[in-house]
Amino acid sequence: MSGSRALASPRRIREELVAVGRGLAARALIAGQDGNISVRVAPDRLLVTPAGFRKGELDPDDLCEVALDGTWVAGAHAPSSELGLHLVWHRERPDIAAVVHAHPPVATGFAAAGRPIIDDVLPEVIVALGPVPVAPYGAPGTPAVGEAILPYVATHDALLLANHGAVTVGATLRQAHDRMEHLEQAARILLVARLLGGAVTLDAAALQALRARRTRPGGGDHA
Ligand SMILES: [Zn+2]
Repeated sequence: MSGSRALASPRRIREELVAVGRGLAARALIAGQDGNISVRVAPDRLLVTPAGFRKGELDPDDLCEVALDGTWVAGAHAPSSELGLHLVWHRERPDIAAVVHAHPPVATGFAAAGRPIIDDVLPEVIVALGPVPVAPYGAPGTPAVGEAILPYVATHDALLLANHGAVTVGATLRQAHDRMEHLEQAARILLVARLLGGAVTLDAAALQALRARRTRPGGGDHA
């Protein structure tokens, strides 16, 4: 490892990633040193949050650069212990550039209860997220997380991690961040609907029209 090498990624992208960390913390989608964020800055290079920092209080120079094989190539701090989770998405999905992992409390409640977010009630879930299944548990910070999510990565833009948290991805940092906000918002709404007796699903014609606006993972994001 050569962690002392200077960061080669543009300052603007580092500032954008730091802003996502602030946004996750401001909305209580992470607590303490939870969560991690990555963005592809070259075909074989990622910018990723460092291990052991509060992600709402990062400086752009705190970030690390790693190769797609996981080699730490630049930055003063070691990369996130969840780097493996990020590498799986970036290797399998050349259409995405950013990955956000957080522990949004209500969505993680769904994950802890083994309840997926079904895409048949809320238009923004159908268009911006698609179905959000629960991937089996893998101990955080171990290769088991990557193994658990691998079957879902090609076909989903948002995923719940059993007994752990959530992951969203996007073509940009903004899109991945927005999807995490949408996921938690949807979980809150669906929880309230369940408390009130259960959500009413959209009819088949409405579902078909909305799903047509979302042609593939990484597609439309405007509900
Ligand atoms: Zn986590």
